[in-house]
Amino acid sequence: MKAKFINSIKVTSILFLVVLLTISSCNKEEEEDIEEPIEIIITEQEDLSHLPFGGIAPTNILIRKQGESQPDFLSLWLCGLPVDGAGANNASDWTNADGTWDYTRKPKVEGNVAWLSEFNITLDGKGKRIITGNALPDHPTGVFPIDPKSIAYKYDRNRNEILARELLFEFPEVPNEAVRPSCVNFGASGISVTGSVIYHGASTLGSDAAAHEILDSHGGHSDGTNTYHYHFPTKDLQNHIHPHESGHSAIMGYMLDGFGIYGPYGEDGELLWSKDLDQCHGHKHPILWDGEMINLYHYHWTYDFPYNIGCYKGTPQ
Ligand SMILES: [Zn+2]
Ligand SMILES: [Zn+2]
Repeated sequence: MKAKFINSIKVTSILFLVVLLTISSCNKEEEEDIEEPIEIIITEQEDLSHLPFGGIAPTNILIRKQGESQPDFLSLWLCGLPVDGAGANNASDWTNADGTWDYTRKPKVEGNVAWLSEFNITLDGKGKRIITGNALPDHPTGVFPIDPKSIAYKYDRNRNEILARELLFEFPEVPNEAVRPSCVNFGASGISVTGSVIYHGASTLGSDAAAHEILDSHGGHSDGTNTYHYHFPTKDLQNHIHPHESGHSAIMGYMLDGFGIYGPYGEDGELLWSKDLDQCHGHKHPILWDGEMINLYHYHWTYDFPYNIGCYKGTPQ
């Protein structure tokens, strides 16, 4: 299944495909072989119809408390799994015959509910980035609890509401990479510049949250702590933060070790997938950081599992 997916993303994410068209004849009596390179430029497509599931055997959710001692590529390294996990777990209506899932066929939590977001990022001048807020997003959300009369409710009986809660994060202004990466806990894995938190890619059942749980058009929903949080970097979320025109994506938030998380586009404006990133779901190259270009590790939020973080590269708060 993984191999098939990688093939399909290779096809869709290739920007410049040089096809060497070889017209050859088996008949030696005909003209000599003609070899002529033809350059075909394929417009980059965001094909969200064939995405790999995380968490289905062979699993790519690694659980430290079940003996997994290190992260791995294309995987999420969880510290543990709660014993009382809950949530939607039937994705059959948007699962393809090849075992991938189709984002374009998955229902959304509809609605247009506005919130009074409070959010502030400051540099304290002593090497710290202080983030405070009330956890509410600065964009409208779907209706939560999910309306029992809606299509979304057929798949996900998420009855949690969205409530404000006090947020306080203190990150290093310029984080350092830790000697060893660390595993990811449940709850917030990061904070988006929208004011709401970012969760990792797994549900409390240990399945792929973005593939199974019904989210709104910004890729978010609420949980048992009544916290609105994101699992998937939808176009609405990206466009709300900063519409992508060219080059590297804009910063979408900060993960708990203080490193930034950017949208799915790399340095040359190419669409990145998890296979392009390291085990923690990031890489290092010069990026815009507080108004300056510096060579710094950072995460990317891609359309495929584990989406936003595989492990912490730095030291999480
Ligand atoms: Zn969630
Ligand atoms: Zn990058």
